[in-house]
Amino acid sequence: MSARVVMLGAPGAGKGTQAKRIAELHGIPHISTGDIFRAHLERGTDLGQQVKPFLDAGHLVPDDLVCRIVVHRVREADCVNGYVLDGFPRSLPQAQALQRELNVEGAVLDVAINLAVPDDELVERLAARRSCPKCGRIYNLRFEPPRRNGYCDFEGEEDVALVQRPDDQESTVRERLVVYHRTTEPLLAFYRDTGLLRQVSGSGKSPEEVSAQIEEIFCALGVN
Ligand code: AMP
Repeated sequence: MSARVVMLGAPGAGKGTQAKRIAELHGIPHISTGDIFRAHLERGTDLGQQVKPFLDAGHLVPDDLVCRIVVHRVREADCVNGYVLDGFPRSLPQAQALQRELNVEGAVLDVAINLAVPDDELVERLAARRSCPKCGRIYNLRFEPPRRNGYCDFEGEEDVALVQRPDDQESTVRERLVVYHRTTEPLLAFYRDTGLLRQVSGSGKSPEEVSAQIEEIFCALGVN
């Protein structure tokens, strides 16, 4: 059975964590446009240079550029049984581009899950978010701290210091939330109108509790 899933939610809502879990549980690729851009930035590619000013400012990368990357990615062989999109679509033109691509493939989207978390909680979470530069594991210094202060739990003997994403600094976070409310939130209506939207509250819940709610939705939809 296939599962084509879109994860929606503001920055810091926990999309990445949940998208990774869904991908592992259902054996489908996790496609995060933010991760794709950060990997290009790190490698210093042309694309990385192109997107850097947008990421630094907390603004969206232009639609045509993001859409080209995603369309190319979902045509790869590992996506034949589906995928979980994390951070895409983020605007109405992006959602329409995804729909066109699905039409071309004769495929359908199974569900769009919105992780709802109030803004004040998002700001608090993002300020405390850290990640391992090696394995990508995400921690929260308040809610999900590493066992050893400041270091990844999963690198064996090696001390790998956790890092903060530059765009998780408070001023950039505020800008990302403004962009989210202006450009991305309207997508909720788009997916509600097509009957694909499912709401999950991420507020005050552990990642395990949120994951259980998502799996219930999949079960009810017959997606596995
Ligand atoms: P994320 O890791 O999903 O929070 O994305 C980090 C940054 O990458 C965003 O603040 C944007 O600058 C850029 N980005 C990621 N996905 C998209 C998208 N679908 N459309 C435009 N910009 C994006």
